Amino acid sequence: MQVKKIPRPTSGGLILSYKCSAECRHCIYACSQKWSADLISEEDLEKILKQLSGRIMSSLYGPKTTGLSHGLHFTGGEPFLYFDLLCEAVEIADKLKIPSTFVETNCFWAVDDETVKEKLKLLKKKGLRGIMISVNPFYLEYVPFERTERAIRISLNVFGRNTMVYQLEYYRRFLQLGIKDRVPFEEYQKLEKKEDLLRNVEFFIMGRAPYGLKDILTECVRQYPADRFFNQECVTPFLRGWHNHFDNYGNYIPGFCGGISFGDCRELDRLLQEGVDTERYPVLGLLMDNNMRGLFEFAKSSGYEEPEEGYFSKCHLCMDIRKHLALSGDFRELQPQEFYRHLGD
Ligand code: SF4
Ligand code: SF4
Repeated sequence: MQVKKIPRPTSGGLILSYKCSAECRHCIYACSQKWSADLISEEDLEKILKQLSGRIMSSLYGPKTTGLSHGLHFTGGEPFLYFDLLCEAVEIADKLKIPSTFVETNCFWAVDDETVKEKLKLLKKKGLRGIMISVNPFYLEYVPFERTERAIRISLNVFGRNTMVYQLEYYRRFLQLGIKDRVPFEEYQKLEKKEDLLRNVEFFIMGRAPYGLKDILTECVRQYPADRFFNQECVTPFLRGWHNHFDNYGNYIPGFCGGISFGDCRELDRLLQEGVDTERYPVLGLLMDNNMRGLFEFAKSSGYEEPEEGYFSKCHLCMDIRKHLALSGDFRELQPQEFYRHLGD
């Protein structure tokens, strides 16, 4: 038996459900309206938050402040789709003294000032410290920009400096471009040069992005054969303690690597103590060793074929291999399986 230790989480996100009001072409967790709702149960919510309390570290300026890679955020999917559950999660986290909590949202629910004030004030009263508002050309296909502007304006009143806009660069560009309402991605592309679309922004070619944005990526990013990526480090260090994720099925997900599970976060104490048996979970073993060549050979031996056009990134290669393995085999470390069915072709 080959046992490897997994990272002790110091910050991260709790996915309440993968169901979302949108289906962004770049979503790293492949969320959409089509997912089963499968909301996290009250029992699991308590269990996971108890396991996280005492481990999650506060933002640099204290437990009442927030930062993208500190504390604990409530996410999805879209957490405002299941607002009562979100309130409950905030309340439990507050009782457990989990610091620097915030919610991540696409603002679909920000239909008028009263609704926004009411929801945000209630969340604050229950102990939430801040909010992170998504702004990018992909959610914009689903949410009118006026709702985002409204949510930012009112969040600044309710949460002050604990209001984060991700990504600020797109927000600046949308204001400059005079964006109104929803904008289909095909229309948005006419407003910016293709090579400028991803300029000055953080963008990961992982999750749904290599499939959902294949056409535009083909025009601005070169593709390479698999062996080009064998010696590259993972974009997201695979064994870091910060900004990991925990989902409604009890999966402990490394970093932004949707579809991978270290094991059951409801039993995090045990998982951290025992580590993972990499003979039982071969995909985890190969990824933890950064052995992409090994993973590629492993997948080829089970019928995986390298696409002629190549890959945009190491994460694209990793996603494509995992998609093949998850949909054709039975790998407990590749969870939730539904993730792989919502990536696209
Ligand atoms: S990126 Fe956010 S808003 Fe878009 S589908 Fe994913 S979870 Fe939903
Ligand atoms: S290559 Fe795979 S394991 Fe590494 S960061 Fe990308 S998705 Fe995660």
